[in-house]
Amino acid sequence: MTMRPHDQKIERIAEQLKKRKKSNPVSLRKKTVSHEVPKPGDKRRQDEKIDISDLDAILEIDPVDRVCIAEPGVTFVDLVKATLKYGLVPFTVPELKTITIGGAVAGCSIESMSYKYGGFHDSCMEYEIITAEGEILHCTPKNKNQLIFEMVHGTFGTLGIISQLTFKLTPAEPFVRVKYEKYSNMKDYQKAIWGHFKKQDVDFMDGIIHSPQEYVLSLAYFTNQAPYTNNYNWTKVYFQSTATRQEDFLKTPDYFFRYDKGLTHVRPKSFLGRLLFRKFQSSTASLQFAQKFHRWIPPKAIPFTLDTFIPFSRSSDFLKWYEKKIGHFPLWCVPYKTRHYQWVAQDYFNEAQEPLFLDIAIYGLKKRNGTHYHEIIEDELLKIGGLETLIAGNYYREEDFWKIWNKDNYDRVKKHTDPNNIFRDLYTKTRKTMLGLEK
Ligand SMILES: Cc1cc2nc3c(=O)[nH]c(=O)nc-3n(C[C@H](O)[C@H](O)[C@H](O)COP(=O)(O)OP(=O)(O)OC[C@H]3O[C@@H](n4cnc5c(N)ncnc54)[C@H](O)[C@@H]3O)c2cc1C
Repeated sequence: MTMRPHDQKIERIAEQLKKRKKSNPVSLRKKTVSHEVPKPGDKRRQDEKIDISDLDAILEIDPVDRVCIAEPGVTFVDLVKATLKYGLVPFTVPELKTITIGGAVAGCSIESMSYKYGGFHDSCMEYEIITAEGEILHCTPKNKNQLIFEMVHGTFGTLGIISQLTFKLTPAEPFVRVKYEKYSNMKDYQKAIWGHFKKQDVDFMDGIIHSPQEYVLSLAYFTNQAPYTNNYNWTKVYFQSTATRQEDFLKTPDYFFRYDKGLTHVRPKSFLGRLLFRKFQSSTASLQFAQKFHRWIPPKAIPFTLDTFIPFSRSSDFLKWYEKKIGHFPLWCVPYKTRHYQWVAQDYFNEAQEPLFLDIAIYGLKKRNGTHYHEIIEDELLKIGGLETLIAGNYYREEDFWKIWNKDNYDRVKKHTDPNNIFRDLYTKTRKTMLGLEK
């Protein structure tokens, strides 16, 4: 019997892992660019590679049960194009076109549907995982690999390679209508977010905090008719439009990827610059450039990027603190419905125990000599029961890190899926390897 192309691909990867004699670390080679913040000294560049670049096929779309099976290298832009043919889309579509579904699970992607459905991982029903020793596991929330299923989320590929994902889809319309509500203080803004979270009455919710006096809540709805459509693929800048418009209509893919040319740190700044250059510029092109020319890019030139997850009830206090200590605006703000993810330490979760977090994303903060913003923010997050995603690396002391991430669960899975630690442990990878500190 001939093997399915997918089985041939995973067999090749499993064989490479089984035949390895060396215990030195490996990392993944993907077809698309990585959406982690570029790091000049990243030691992974010298690693032996496990090539997963051919794992980029959509294997099945079942329009009746609204389920999709796909390989991890499928990008969201391709996925949305394919599923929209059936009037369906994934439950969570991160805002940059070439984020992949495997990367979205491993790196915790969320977006404006997350206030209802959580992260992309929360729509997943099954993962196929290749362990460091080449074993192929099927992991679901209910089978014997339940803990592995939960723990590959947010652990950045350190527990195994996700080689196939099965996830749910939701009905969609061709257009999205966005309505902008404006608030002048955090208390009213919070109240409005909480109200929509309780009522679950919009399809999408995110926002931009332009300044401590200007809070925009973007509430969006699928619609099958639009009187006009806008897009933000050339001279217009989406985040700026939220301050001036009351309402907008976008084609559904243009809505999903409205920040693809830049979130709140948009270059070129001038209209003329955008007219001349922005057509050819994108998040993917900027990241590709940084990856290619990393040797010549001074660390100071890489914009500060950090996603923080704040327990909702503490978000007002956090912003007061942020305004005083850091004061960089605008901020992108995404309400995120959470549950106790098993990679979060039980005691840490018990402290916060909130059904809603706010992802407050800081992009483009200018680095100033002598101020270590990352550390300052991490200290504050520890005090208020918040978290950061690890796409920008981490600066926690190891004992603090494992107060937040669940070491017992992590070690239990690691023992099974990567006993010789060839994928590195999460702390080492994000604290030492990515930041060039690994010996
Ligand atoms: C400038 C910028 C803007 C961003 N904007 C958004 C946004 O709008 N919305 C949002 O949700 N997120 C955003 N992110 C974060 C992004 O979602 C995560 O970084 C995500 O992990 C990127 O996916 P990727 O496909 O690029 O994965 P990569 O960056 O290639 O990988 C991320 C990590 O996952 C691991 N990994 C990748 N594939 C696999 C696999 N198949 N199996 C196991 N491990 C794997 C990698 O080893 C790596 O450690 C942004 C990040 C940046 C830098």
